[in-house]
Amino acid sequence: MIGGSAAGSFGALLLARSGHEIIVFEREQLPAARDVESAAACAFRSSAPQIVQPHIVMARCRQLLIERLPDVYRAWLAAGVAEAPLATQMPRSLVDKGERVGDEQFTMLMSRRSTLDWVLQRIVRAEPRISVRDGLQVTDLLAIPGHPPRVTGVRSIQGDFTADVVVDASGRRSVIDRWLRKIGAKPAANSQAECGIAYYSRHYRLRPGVELPGPPTTRTVSALDEFTVGIWGADNGTMQLVVAPLATDRRFRRVKHPEVFTAVLRTVSSFAAWLDALDPITEVFPMGGLNNTMRRLVVDGAPVVVGLHAIGDSVCTTNPTLGRGLSLALSNAADLVETISANPENLHMQALELDRLYEDHVAPYYEDQAVVDRHRLGALRHNIFDAPLPKPTCETPHRTDFFQLRRAAMLDPTAFRAFWKIMGMLSRPDEVYADPEVVACTQKVLEDDSPTPSMVQPSREQLLAALQLKV
Ligand SMILES: Cc1cc2nc3c(=O)[nH]c(=O)nc-3n(C[C@H](O)[C@H](O)[C@H](O)COP(=O)(O)OP(=O)(O)OC[C@H]3O[C@@H](n4cnc5c(N)ncnc54)[C@H](O)[C@@H]3O)c2cc1C
Repeated sequence: MIGGSAAGSFGALLLARSGHEIIVFEREQLPAARDVESAAACAFRSSAPQIVQPHIVMARCRQLLIERLPDVYRAWLAAGVAEAPLATQMPRSLVDKGERVGDEQFTMLMSRRSTLDWVLQRIVRAEPRISVRDGLQVTDLLAIPGHPPRVTGVRSIQGDFTADVVVDASGRRSVIDRWLRKIGAKPAANSQAECGIAYYSRHYRLRPGVELPGPPTTRTVSALDEFTVGIWGADNGTMQLVVAPLATDRRFRRVKHPEVFTAVLRTVSSFAAWLDALDPITEVFPMGGLNNTMRRLVVDGAPVVVGLHAIGDSVCTTNPTLGRGLSLALSNAADLVETISANPENLHMQALELDRLYEDHVAPYYEDQAVVDRHRLGALRHNIFDAPLPKPTCETPHRTDFFQLRRAAMLDPTAFRAFWKIMGMLSRPDEVYADPEVVACTQKVLEDDSPTPSMVQPSREQLLAALQLKV
């Protein structure tokens, strides 16, 4: 297993528990922190800079954990990870707040990423069939040439290691394409769609004895006219706040200063109310270079390589504001272990079968995100730079789309659950958009033209004043 972060840990645990001997290669020396606070304090590492960014665990990941890794789920809760039931996501405008059968499946988990990783790494290290080589970077693949080449192990800075199967869990910066070229493989099929935002975030702790403006487990992510803001809870009384502007919007470069970050958030009244109840516990962490990407190791029905699989961000990354990465990582790991169990000796079949599962379990989310982001970016560029607006997505009366559904979800209980099915990754977005009941209730809300509540936004002048604050 190349990479010992989320995907590598999920994959190693599932494979080890189905009887395989696993070596995890992790290029970083991961510190053995005493507790979750010490883990948070030393969480930053340049090889996975997203670890310090706000995280949420969507419903699909929680469900898969309960089914496949129940000890990890229990250990996360024991470490202070908070459960966020669907009821805590209901907007004030939703009049019918009655519980429905199946609502439990929507529950999410809220935590600092460092806490999730701290627990995962302890469980991985205690697992009998897993050996973790920290501080050991894989530098190449070992392979028998052929069409396709057959991977037989990895080269590291401490020598060669052979393996029946190698798994790339080395994240968004995976160099697998270069390694494939070096062993004579055809190129993987790589897709990329603009995500276009930058992340500026900070962690806070709830101030004791202060009245809160709402439940800490309500996830509020608001697509404002000129930027996106988000707040949601985390483990052990902590909260995560994010400002996500267009990556090309130079006005926001100063948001990395804590004073400017605070001033920008204070321009949004509901966020100002939260800031009055919170104390910062970190600096502001900026992160750019975000993209929607998807890599397939089967091209035109044929594997480009056998004996090598990929999971996690090496396969797919999507816009972080929707928090899909951990769900995809665990889903990939579950698909991987099933594929290997069903075809233990047939590497060719493993490659084809895994790609077929990714077509079902990954591609729909990548494709949906590409469409959503194209429209959101278009709207931002229109509002900020006066660029022409993109064409509306919904071309047929038998289908709705993400934006219409999000609007209807503010008022209609069926649309609300349909929206959270997509957010929680419990159904493929396309299936939800084409569900006749969902289409009907969405259209009814839109036709009624009932005003959907929107967040009170800063004026351009207020925003510029915050961004230009002297520090
Ligand atoms: C700003 C931001 C916010 C996000 N928020 C959320 C969220 O709210 N919810 C959510 O589910 N997901 C979120 N994600 C996505 C999530 O962080 C990733 O999907 C997840 O970390 C993927 O895990 P991974 O193990 O595939 O990759 P990584 O976590 O990047 O880990 C890769 C590991 O491989 C190691 N490695 C790399 N190369 C080598 C090598 N050659 N040899 C040995 N080791 C190597 C690295 O050191 C690293 O530890 C967010 C992402 C970003 C960028």
